Amino acid sequence: MRIAVCVKHVPDATVHKRIDPASKRLDRSGEGALNPTDLNAVEEALRIKEAHGGEVVLVSLGPAKSMDSLRKALAMGADRALLVADDAVAGSDLVATTAPLARALERESPDLVLFGQASSDGDGAVLWAAVADRLRRPLVSQVASLTVETDSITGKRQTEHGYDVIRAPLPAVVAVSDAINEPRYPSLKGIMGAKSKPQETLDLAAIGIDVGLVGEAGSKTTVLELGPPPSRGDQVKIEDDGSGAEKIVEYLLERRLI
Ligand SMILES: Cc1cc2nc3c(=O)[nH]c(=O)nc-3n(C[C@H](O)[C@H](O)[C@H](O)COP(=O)(O)OP(=O)(O)OC[C@H]3O[C@@H](n4cnc5c(N)ncnc54)[C@H](O)[C@@H]3O)c2cc1C
Repeated sequence: MRIAVCVKHVPDATVHKRIDPASKRLDRSGEGALNPTDLNAVEEALRIKEAHGGEVVLVSLGPAKSMDSLRKALAMGADRALLVADDAVAGSDLVATTAPLARALERESPDLVLFGQASSDGDGAVLWAAVADRLRRPLVSQVASLTVETDSITGKRQTEHGYDVIRAPLPAVVAVSDAINEPRYPSLKGIMGAKSKPQETLDLAAIGIDVGLVGEAGSKTTVLELGPPPSRGDQVKIEDDGSGAEKIVEYLLERRLI
């Protein structure tokens, strides 16, 4: 079974998020890391491979430095990585992002495509639906438990009211929830071995995607304005002059919160 796992290189959680006022886009120039919830998708793929055999291939769209993050998933046990990197991709909204990603997935013809829950920078939790639509494959999202059979998958899907159990024929697309498993830590052997695993970087021409389909040209949305959320007017700022903790306790006591 060939399992493709879509993973994203995102700004590291410790990096202060800044919107570039000129482009109105997130400044992604600093330290990056593998999107945290994508680790659950990688872990699930590895467990499926361990049970059924096959191959786990990472597929990503992003700048060339994304490969550093992909190596972490290779160290966990994924077999190889495919990164689509091209300067023309910058400024791609959801629709423009799905075009090259879906094409890269088509090139791999996986039996199963796994996604994480949401990216920590865009936080759309929607890309998998748009990719499944482009691939014309069934989608089960928010999957907290997954069973794979020869020609179908069954996903236990978390909802506000309980669980839905959904079966879909393969090939299928599954977005896992972060409750599905506990991602493993890469071993030292895995980290050393990751460097020599196949790591392919392709530009748009190599996957047959016209530059007009990506970036601002291929996007269906434009960010017109960005601003801080309006003040609620009831905030209290406590300066810590050594008595900060005391003042916080006092504040909470006054409001009968503790
Ligand atoms: C006008 C505009 C301009 C933008 N410009 C940029 C830009 O320059 N650079 C940029 O990075 N984003 C940009 N974005 C954001 C970009 O469109 C989103 O990252 C994309 O639509 C995916 O949405 P998301 O990040 O909310 O992912 P989600 O839907 O939250 O992600 C769900 C899952 O999809 C997978 N996934 C998400 N993104 C990727 C990816 N790139 N490769 C592989 N798997 C992935 C992961 O498994 C993830 O867990 C822009 C958005 C807009 C509206």
